Amino acid sequence: MNPNIEEFHPLNNHADVFDPHTYLQAHTPQWAQHAACKNQPHTMYPTTPTELAAALNLCAQCPVQKPCAEKGLTESHGIWGGINREPHPTQTIHKLLTQGGTWTTEQLAQQTGRTIAHTHTQLKKLAHTHPITTTTHPTTGEQTHTLN
Ligand code: SF4
Repeated sequence: MNPNIEEFHPLNNHADVFDPHTYLQAHTPQWAQHAACKNQPHTMYPTTPTELAAALNLCAQCPVQKPCAEKGLTESHGIWGGINREPHPTQTIHKLLTQGGTWTTEQLAQQTGRTIAHTHTQLKKLAHTHPITTTTHPTTGEQTHTLN
């Protein structure tokens, strides 16, 4: 296989199994060698609001934000040029509920990579426009959600 930028995110998920510096020198365009995140690509796959803020902060200081953002236009995961290419958590929650069944808040939070508190907020927003039924377990207090 001919390595090319498709395998690279300044940012590559597999950064833990190869030497990013060597890889960057061999297979990436000039701009990527100046990536602020090239030695910490995992930061561009945040799973919490705090990690997301840290990633966006790093991008804000990056000298190659523009070409990175252009590359990100074809990506569906990760942060590229200060833009989160992940689907918005509200979209993900809606998609999951649309699939049917009953989901706990914790399950939805796991699926979106957000906190339970954040997921509650997303569910409240969705409930303004979608018929979501939320049930609270009488003893455990656990909440489950279904789309009617
Ligand atoms: S803009 Fe952000 S994601 Fe892109 S190379 Fe710079 S730090 Fe990495």
